[in-house]
Amino acid sequence: MIERPVLWIIIPCYNEEQVLPVTSEMFTEKLSGLINAGRVGEKSRLLFVNDGSKDGTWDIIKKLSDENPIVSGISLSCNRGHQNALLAGLCEAVDKCDITISMDCDGQDDIEAVDKMLDRFGEGCQVVYGVRSSREKDTFFKRFTAESFYKLMMKMGVEVVYNHADYRLISNRVLKEFTDFHEVNLFLRGMIPLVGFKSGTVEYKRQERLAGNTHYPLSKMLALAFDGITSLSIKPIRLITGIGILVAIISFIFIIWAIVDFFLGKTVSGWSSTICVVSFIGGIQLIALGVIGEYVGKIYLETKARPRFIIEERLNTVNDSENNGAI
Ligand code: UDP
Ligand code: MG
Repeated sequence: MIERPVLWIIIPCYNEEQVLPVTSEMFTEKLSGLINAGRVGEKSRLLFVNDGSKDGTWDIIKKLSDENPIVSGISLSCNRGHQNALLAGLCEAVDKCDITISMDCDGQDDIEAVDKMLDRFGEGCQVVYGVRSSREKDTFFKRFTAESFYKLMMKMGVEVVYNHADYRLISNRVLKEFTDFHEVNLFLRGMIPLVGFKSGTVEYKRQERLAGNTHYPLSKMLALAFDGITSLSIKPIRLITGIGILVAIISFIFIIWAIVDFFLGKTVSGWSSTICVVSFIGGIQLIALGVIGEYVGKIYLETKARPRFIIEERLNTVNDSENNGAI
């Protein structure tokens, strides 16, 4: 067991100028407390990742870093999405610490669960997943869509921890292995379990967002469920899926109409069954084409293998070595 492990807390931020002044105080207080209590090493850091924010988020991070040496920051050259921002933070932290804990910057991930995560790490867990014990603070709609999301993922054979988002502890050992995963379509909560090693869970109560608005409306959650981050060029394929669904619905209405007409005796013999089959198969084929298109689009993005993020600026990171996400 590592005595006083060096902990880096990775916090992605996108347009969070409303909430950051409130939560940053919580974070610094917590980490200072852990350092003073001797639970984590003195080189522990808070690493804020500015995900190409358009508001004053980066200025706030700069100020925090000036005022407090435990605060570090990196700023991405443009908005790359939560998963890429988190990955940028993890890549920055690899080999500079013994453990990382990733959490959202809006105060929804209960910071007190960090102690329990450290306990589990002390017991030998290399990965500790934060699991929401209740979602009573979420709206019914958010709760319903989020829970359906996990169920759908699991049904589709993706190994995810139920009700675990991206609040987790990862040891440097696991993180190093994880950097061998080079895919550009990121779904971290499904990828980390693939690394293996001993893991554990810690329950926490999901809090309300302290300020600002969610960046994950239903549409974004759906995109994430489809292994989300896609470029403009595969949108047409998505459109095909949409058209397929629409055609399937219309054909369903046609089917009912044709059946009714059949029983009313208004049809030429054979017409109803022909219409039913043609419409139904047409709809299904378009949906199938769209789904295959999704995969082709993913392959397209993977073959280009563009950098998953580009770091424009660093603040107070230990060694300012080159790291452009190409690992
Ligand atoms: N976030 C990010 N880039 C984005 C969108 C979100 O870095 O493009 C960050 C955001 O600042 C927050 C975290 O990801 O720290 C989770 O986002 P949010 O709280 O909006 O999602 P929710 O908790 O509602 O699912
Ligand atoms: Mg949130």
